[in-house]
Amino acid sequence: MVAKAPGQEFWRSIPAIAHVFKPDTQREAYIPNAATDDMRMYVPFTETVTSRPLWISPERNMWCDILQATSAGLVNRHYHPHEVFAYTISGQWSYLEHDWVATRGDFVYESPGEGHTLVAHEHAEAMRVLFIVKGPLIWLDKHGNADGYFDVHDYIAMCRTHYDSVGLGAARLQTLFR
Ligand code: FE
Repeated sequence: MVAKAPGQEFWRSIPAIAHVFKPDTQREAYIPNAATDDMRMYVPFTETVTSRPLWISPERNMWCDILQATSAGLVNRHYHPHEVFAYTISGQWSYLEHDWVATRGDFVYESPGEGHTLVAHEHAEAMRVLFIVKGPLIWLDKHGNADGYFDVHDYIAMCRTHYDSVGLGAARLQTLFR
């Protein structure tokens, strides 16, 4: 974002903290226009759903992304041993397992120990949802039995491959690591 000329806000005379970062901490992350319209930024996740990585923590097995579906979409059934947070930016989505439908402005928290099937609904706007996920996702077969997993390392590999293929460069992904 381009810095605007200073305004007249009451806090203008307050000095910023001199020592911002502890010696062993990492830089903040600032990503303008997180839910961008630039489709190169969205990594194919399933056949119908893409993901723009915003923040990745291999150490915590966590990531934060914008999950997108430009028409009807599906992330097939899976189980979360850890928590998930979601904030809906646009479009409409739900889980087959719940009776609510999330739309712009809606917040969702999923407790550790939940299995679900994510579906994006047909809508005038693309589904774009800010997700904070602690891995892994455990893929489930139609009987509800585990038959694979997807964790932060799979996410990183998937994003690197895509970044390379669209010319963003795999190295760029590293800037998201915290
Ligand atoms: Fe999930």
